[in-house]
Amino acid sequence: MGTEGKQIDRPDLKTIRRFLTHVQVMSFGKHKGCWLWTGCTRENDERCVNAPYGRFRIQLNGKWLVRHAHRVSYAIFNGNVPKGFDVHHECGKHNCVNPDHLGLLTRGANVVDGNRKRNGNGNDDVPF
Ligand SMILES: [Zn+2]
Repeated sequence: MGTEGKQIDRPDLKTIRRFLTHVQVMSFGKHKGCWLWTGCTRENDERCVNAPYGRFRIQLNGKWLVRHAHRVSYAIFNGNVPKGFDVHHECGKHNCVNPDHLGLLTRGANVVDGNRKRNGNGNDDVPF
């Protein structure tokens, strides 16, 4: 996918609106403040059996891709994920997509941080 190293624009409004229909903001309880992903996750869809994180379909450069929901959220609200970085859940809730709960870590640091699996699927052709 010839992106020639340049940043791809953020998801468009239509995509953002669709994204937000899959978000449940927790206003109480243990995960208060988290935005829980109600779209496809391992818990609710057997096709997501290999996905510990929420998933979201997004169209980029005319191609449909399935991305991790938390990476898409980061890109929508905080900007593109720089090359070589993973999006890390500071709240520890893997299906949370609250951009305030997401931070960047270099890939190596995320591994050292105890996440045995990378917190993202790290396709370098796509900014999220
Ligand atoms: Zn959270």
